Amino acid sequence: MEPMTSLDSPTAPSGTASSALFARALEVTPGGVNSPVRAFRAVGGTPCFMSSGSGPYLYDVDGNEYVDLICSWGPLLLGHAHPEVVDAVQRATSRGTSFGTPTLLEVELAAEIVDRTPVDQVRLVSTGTEATMSAIRLARGFTGRELVVKFVGCYHGHSDGLLAAAGSGVATFGLPSSPGVPKGSTAATVVVPYNDTAAVKEVFASYGEEIACVITEAACGNMGAVAPVEGFNATLSRLCREHGALFISDEVMTGFRVTRSGYWGIDGAVEGWVPDLMTFGKVMGGGFPAAAFGGRRDVMSQLAPVGPVYQGGTLSGNPIATTAGLTTLRLATDEVYARLDEVAGTIAHLVSDALGAAGVPHVVQWAGNLFSPFFVDPAEIAVVQNFDDASRQSLHRFRAFFHAMLDQGVYLPPSAFEAWFVSAAHDDRALDKIAAALPMAAAAAAAARPDEDR
Ligand SMILES: *Cc1c(COP(=O)(O)O)cnc(C)c1O
Repeated sequence: MEPMTSLDSPTAPSGTASSALFARALEVTPGGVNSPVRAFRAVGGTPCFMSSGSGPYLYDVDGNEYVDLICSWGPLLLGHAHPEVVDAVQRATSRGTSFGTPTLLEVELAAEIVDRTPVDQVRLVSTGTEATMSAIRLARGFTGRELVVKFVGCYHGHSDGLLAAAGSGVATFGLPSSPGVPKGSTAATVVVPYNDTAAVKEVFASYGEEIACVITEAACGNMGAVAPVEGFNATLSRLCREHGALFISDEVMTGFRVTRSGYWGIDGAVEGWVPDLMTFGKVMGGGFPAAAFGGRRDVMSQLAPVGPVYQGGTLSGNPIATTAGLTTLRLATDEVYARLDEVAGTIAHLVSDALGAAGVPHVVQWAGNLFSPFFVDPAEIAVVQNFDDASRQSLHRFRAFFHAMLDQGVYLPPSAFEAWFVSAAHDDRALDKIAAALPMAAAAAAAARPDEDR
């Protein structure tokens, strides 16, 4: 999640359809957007209003084409408007859009998730926020304990208890990171620097008997791409087991994106450990609102109606979302994952080469096929391991780079604290367009001065 800093109110260049729409949006919606990062506050300027997408491309209301490196923040593994997904959704829609009863599709989507991951059972929900919030309630209900351990810079959605920022110190009880979150909601959240095994051990040494769960992004994508250091997740899993706490691996971003079984396919499957609970979203909805949490059968059977822990949703397992997700997952074959890795590798190297050639200090990092450049000085920070490291970026360089790419038709995440996402639809033409845009963007980053765009 990007830090809550903002530039001056964005000023709209006149005469474009996007800026006209933005002016209307500002009248009827706070900041003109329905999710803060879309407002371009971190980079300045006017957000582009998109009207359509096709394969690797987005088209805005002014008719500009962009190579999309957000892919709806992860869900669009196959690119925009994949013909088979569109067709399946259209057929499903004609059969009715919501029943409020169980359906075959929900069973099939759950079975697909159970088949790909180490979970025994899943419960479907509509958003990643619901998935993590519900997993935490379940962990507390199962253990009869209240403390939740989370990491600085890991984003798990916007529920109260997880909107906790670290105070000073190595591990601290969370302070609300947003007005409106009661102190009581984050008082049971312990916040620890990411990748800091020693700090987690200290927390367990002090509060081991009170900890319900540790929740972490399987690999962090919400401060840019920051992979866990070797053995980090395994250690979290072991510490939880030793202290009777549950280990929740949040794979809302990485699940079904970095391998067919998510980031767990890269670490737990290889090292031989299994999270107690996992959360999923994004790709599994195929561009529709669908998410899930799942895990051990004995834990999941504490959920209503089997057990006493309440959780429910009117549109949970919605047939259209379920169809889009199931169709996407069934098309996400080994060849698709190989293509994603290849595309991500190509783009990351192009970016690093261009920034290097222009003399812009940076490191490019990976977490599976998630990647992002950090505009830090590699002499000071060779590897970005946590949010403090990520915060030492030259944000003015990212802003200049972002706008130069946008002007040349490449749509990057509008924040230096986000991973970049590719799709299997990113073809040679899309890669060529990125390659052609990079030298000028790298030059703009090199020339940027800290205050000039304020
Ligand atoms: C996106 C995300 C969420 C929240 O999902 P929403 O569908 O936006 O509520 C939770 N955890 C992680 C790791 C995410 O990337």
